Amino acid sequence: MPNMSKKKQLMPLQEANIRNKNFTEVSLGYRPEQAIEESDRCLQCKNAPCVAGCPVNVQIPEFIKLVKENKFYEGYLKIFETNSLPEVCGRVCPQENQCEKYCVRGKKDEPVAIGRLERFVSDYASQNPQKSENLSAIEPNKGKVAIIGSGPAGVSCAGDLAKMGYEVTIFEAFHTAGGVLMYGIPEFRLPKKIVQNAIDRVVELGVKIEKNMVIGKILSIDELFQEGYQAVFIGTGAGLPVFMNIPGENLNGVMSANEFLTRINLMKAYDPDADTPVKIGKNVAVVGGGNVAMDAARCAIRLGAENVYIVYRRSLDELPARKEEVEHAEEEGIIFKLLTNPKQIIGTDNGWAKAIQCVEMELGEPDSSGRRRPIEKPDSLFEILVETVIISIGTTPNPLIKDTTKQLKFAPKGEIVADEVTGQTSQPGIFAGGDIVTGAATVIQAMGAGKRSAIAIDEYIRSKK
Ligand code: FAD
Ligand code: SF4
Ligand code: SF4
Repeated sequence: MPNMSKKKQLMPLQEANIRNKNFTEVSLGYRPEQAIEESDRCLQCKNAPCVAGCPVNVQIPEFIKLVKENKFYEGYLKIFETNSLPEVCGRVCPQENQCEKYCVRGKKDEPVAIGRLERFVSDYASQNPQKSENLSAIEPNKGKVAIIGSGPAGVSCAGDLAKMGYEVTIFEAFHTAGGVLMYGIPEFRLPKKIVQNAIDRVVELGVKIEKNMVIGKILSIDELFQEGYQAVFIGTGAGLPVFMNIPGENLNGVMSANEFLTRINLMKAYDPDADTPVKIGKNVAVVGGGNVAMDAARCAIRLGAENVYIVYRRSLDELPARKEEVEHAEEEGIIFKLLTNPKQIIGTDNGWAKAIQCVEMELGEPDSSGRRRPIEKPDSLFEILVETVIISIGTTPNPLIKDTTKQLKFAPKGEIVADEVTGQTSQPGIFAGGDIVTGAATVIQAMGAGKRSAIAIDEYIRSKK
């Protein structure tokens, strides 16, 4: 008889008042006895609807059964068959909209904590490494493939092609590989050591990573083909920030969430001895309501800001960020200014931000997105005194590849047009996947796209022979 308790095992956390002053991980992970207890909540459903909810089809009941039998390392290997970044996905997947959304237990009670169990077995495996098959021994004799971008899409495509026997080189614009996993998601949600371990595993498979290589500037895609690459996968993400175009956005103290988080993650700006410390005021407004906005606000409070406001034009129900992240942010002291829209940023005489002028909003009829349209309330202007404003209202693809690869087809907002399943673009031999195709999405969707393209690239190269 399975454990029929209604609720998931609680995730042990750092206390809110302590964690909001440090950058170490907020969630501490299940203890073995908790993992076994939680695994017993799984009904081992024959049709396992949870599996179809996972973009890479992790064999969920099988791995959970292994946890129940105390075979944690074997559980990790089961996940690793289809997911090359389980320690990352167990931490950042929006499970409530993916695997756990379809869990049968979730119909009446809380779903099985699939993500937390995935994290548990991955952490167990990295703390208790076992000798595994030496995959680097695979002779790369099937052909040469270039991957542009080392985010989850590029890394998973590269890893799978290397396992098939291809000679794979990743070209990465930054000096560090990992994409948003390294420069976007903060240390307290996804420790960088974990991401580095995952990158190291891909390098062990024989994948080369050429850093500081901006494709479109240093080399073009045409030049990659001239260098003998038989196929190219583009996984360059959607890292170009969108601004509001309101007065005052060019004042000192106003920046995009992308710049703020990159400086914190890659340049270690939270370390006072870092070369490029990030200067923030005592009062900070973060404009936007997604995961990126929550990350920026939670970084600001950790950097010592006294009042950090999330300024969002709709209500709590429409906040696009994960519920768990919103709860964690609230516990850490972030102040939510909902139904509030910025009109302008007001500056001092010497060009620094000193306040954000906003207007109150109310919700009208649903718009094309199905969400109720926010409408300005008349005569409701007010100011919030802030010295720092962080804009987090979305991102689009960087136009560099578009400007230098004329033969590719692009969507109006700059995404590459590619086949949903294979990632095949309008140009033979060029494949694309992840945020550069879908716009800003999720880690596991980008990984799934990279994996599917690896299969398509293999078929393409074999068909040419
Ligand atoms: P990216 O991760 O963006 O990687 C693209 C890589 O390509 C980068 O390394 C970039 O430097 C490189 N590149 C770009 N142009 C070039 C070029 N011309 N030449 C060479 N290299 C180039 N998703 C979740 O599932 N859960 C979360 O909790 C979550 N939180 C997030 C928090 C933040 C702050 C952000 C920004 C995103 C978050 N996401 C989250 C979204 C998720 O990280 C992305 O959907 C995912 O990383 C997309 O993967 P990708 O491989 O397509 O692109
Ligand atoms: Fe769920 Fe993500 Fe793991 Fe898939 S990879 S089972 S969606 S947590
Ligand atoms: Fe277990 Fe839920 Fe999947 Fe059923 S749907 S196998 S209960 S995780």
